[in-house]
Amino acid sequence: MSQNIDYKFVLQSQGFEFKKGLGQNFVFDTNLLNAIATDADIQSSDTVVEIGVGAGSLTNIIADRASRVVGFEIDKRLQAVHKLTIQRDSVEVKYKDFLQLNDNDIVSFGVYKVVANLPYYITTPIIFKLLESNNPPKSITIMVQKEVANRIVAKPNTPDYGVLTASVALRCQATITRKVSRAAFVPQPNVDSAIVRLDKLHCSNLNATNITKLIQAAFGNRRKMLVNNLVSNYSISKQKAQQALIQLGLPITIRGEALSVQQFVDLYNIISNI
Ligand code: SAM
Repeated sequence: MSQNIDYKFVLQSQGFEFKKGLGQNFVFDTNLLNAIATDADIQSSDTVVEIGVGAGSLTNIIADRASRVVGFEIDKRLQAVHKLTIQRDSVEVKYKDFLQLNDNDIVSFGVYKVVANLPYYITTPIIFKLLESNNPPKSITIMVQKEVANRIVAKPNTPDYGVLTASVALRCQATITRKVSRAAFVPQPNVDSAIVRLDKLHCSNLNATNITKLIQAAFGNRRKMLVNNLVSNYSISKQKAQQALIQLGLPITIRGEALSVQQFVDLYNIISNI
């Protein structure tokens, strides 16, 4: 069991210095780490991929519950720390930049869940890498900056609703499972956090990647009407864009932020068929 390891002491004994540029804000609070694992609903048969192993505090909690853990850590200085903190056969740590993995690497995980306290500077690229891969995880449970969590679960016609919200909603259901104070991290960052769980991930036959391009175009300039954003950013004529909105039963003056994800899907289908 992982409860008795003094991670701070091990880091200090190895002369470890945190690198802000790598998003190194670690969590040692066992209650919080267990809560993350509980929110992720880890089963004893699960393979869990963890992105950003840090000192190994979350890794060990996951390993207590899962059959196998594949951890990724970009910072090779932590290898010496892991020799002291992670000593179990079910855990394999790869010292690689997760964003550099190719699809074959991700396919090699088999069926898996992702659980991570993500480095904040690359939260969105990591989410997209997982969602757009041809082997998406069964679920993703991640600690992210609170503002990003709010954007992921936002509703149309709110300031937080945007490309991130809609592209995530195209592929899965998102829930904030709990808020986490900045005081839970070492060193303490300037922002609070939240745990987000993404479920029912699918490589949809919806052509999510192309629909995401339409959504990106629709939010190109939030103050512009949707029609004008589509003309500028999606290479279609004003007439075609207006015709599509009329077919959808929407006012031609509508802004992108007013459309639900389903309406974006319908808009994509109509534009593709005009
Ligand atoms: N899981 C640990 C915890 O909860 O204490 C550490 C979390 S810390 C927020 C993020 C970790 O991700 C750091 O250890 C950092 O070095 C690592 N990291 C940053 N960029 C990475 C990347 N591109 N690929 C893999 N790991 C990365």
